[in-house]
Amino acid sequence: MGGFGTLRVTILTEVLAEFKIGGKKCDDMYDIDISVWIWIFVIIFIIFLISRYFNNPFTYPLIKNTIDISGRKKPSYDECIDQWIIDHKSYDINKNYERVLNQWNSNNERILNGVIIGKKYKAEICDNMKHRVMSDEYPIFQFVFIRKQTRYKQINYQKIAYKVDNVEHVSELTLNDMLKIENSLKKIDYQTTRKKYKSKEQRKLMTKELRRKVIERDNYTCQICGKYMPDEVGLQIDHIISINKGGKTIESNLQVLCDKCNYKKGSKK
Ligand SMILES: [Zn+2]
Repeated sequence: MGGFGTLRVTILTEVLAEFKIGGKKCDDMYDIDISVWIWIFVIIFIIFLISRYFNNPFTYPLIKNTIDISGRKKPSYDECIDQWIIDHKSYDINKNYERVLNQWNSNNERILNGVIIGKKYKAEICDNMKHRVMSDEYPIFQFVFIRKQTRYKQINYQKIAYKVDNVEHVSELTLNDMLKIENSLKKIDYQTTRKKYKSKEQRKLMTKELRRKVIERDNYTCQICGKYMPDEVGLQIDHIISINKGGKTIESNLQVLCDKCNYKKGSKK
């Protein structure tokens, strides 16, 4: 038993010795490593300083609007933008443009005052950006078209539905683009989109909602003889300027007529 014990101790000392040597070896490697690590650190720090110096802290101004096109097959993005402007008649494009630009300018000034290194360089970037933003080609208005998609997750054996927004398309417009669209819509009193206005199939543009709008506006009353038709029997919607003569299917060109007056009007032509 004693012999075995001694053997065990010997093995143990040898193993320990091995470890020591190993440890020393490791120490040596560690010494080399430290100087390498210091170099790596110094290089990274220099890269960090350089990138900080050249880093552009400014972002371009953006007037972003989101349009939800869920459930609509292949919508015309341009027409959606028309509709957005129609729905936001009171939205002052110029005023909002100026407000965002002023805010952007004061933000930039704050950033410039805050930086210590590369101040001159940053002022230069800032000026360049200003030039670009003030140019006619800068698309400051952005319309993001999203589709809501239902997804599910499992929580405690329960399937829970949640919605995510999928960006399908992004339209970028300059201030002039926006004002141009607004101007053409203003000419037709925001009554319909440009595409619908130019459409050759005006008859197809008559919708239930539009019909309802005209009926309520005219209070179920024939605009020629004054017949009141609350039950809508014989009530017809007439194009004041007929489609053949270039009349449009817009509220201002529609009126309520009784069937008799509509027939008379039709036979006069
Ligand atoms: Zn009538």
